[in-house]
Amino acid sequence: MTLETITERIHHAEIAAERAPGSVCLIAVSKIQPLERVESVLQLGHRIFGENRVQEAAGKWPDLQQRYGDCELHLLGPLQTNKARQAMELFDVIHSLDRPKLATTLARLAQDAGKCPGLFIQVNTGEEPQKAGIAPADVDRFVADCSGMDLSISGLMCIPPADEDASVHFTVLADMAARNGLTGLSMGMSDDFETAIAKGATHVRVGSAIFGTRTEG
Ligand SMILES: *Cc1c(COP(=O)(O)O)cnc(C)c1O
Repeated sequence: MTLETITERIHHAEIAAERAPGSVCLIAVSKIQPLERVESVLQLGHRIFGENRVQEAAGKWPDLQQRYGDCELHLLGPLQTNKARQAMELFDVIHSLDRPKLATTLARLAQDAGKCPGLFIQVNTGEEPQKAGIAPADVDRFVADCSGMDLSISGLMCIPPADEDASVHFTVLADMAARNGLTGLSMGMSDDFETAIAKGATHVRVGSAIFGTRTEG
């Protein structure tokens, strides 16, 4: 598939869901992809990208941005507190705020820097032990705690269990966001971004459908 196809499918999904055209942000997830694939998407004019690891992103994006101009970079993967400072310098948005200690660290760094990336709280909607994220029962309190630390939260993010109907998880996430007064919803990947848009996604994270299959590990 191509960027153009995905953009078109997003447009149709927006219309089908009676959402404003252009209201959904497409994050092209470039992790692990060969550089030439990333550059071909940059050459098409796309400027919003997602990465999973601080180190990997730091290795390629400063140079790519020098050559193609500023991009909006989103961190999607787990963030260690000792990489938080570097992440804040590199990324415009962090989607993986998943524990109180990270919130405390980000709040302190944001105070020092006088600015803060956009922040999504990752929710472990499937309550999977191996997956990061705030447990559903703790979300309301965590949102309040973040506000108490002066952290501005853009919305909620989830990665549904691979073997379950994603739409159920998208609905749960949308409800949690609504009752906490949060407007951002980071949900939907290559296989389910249209479903996510129907459920209110504001940010979809699409990798392999744009760039092709990743050869991981
Ligand atoms: C890799 C990844 C994606 C993109 O996955 P695809 O299935 O390739 O679209 C989206 N979100 C997160 C958090 C990821 O780690």
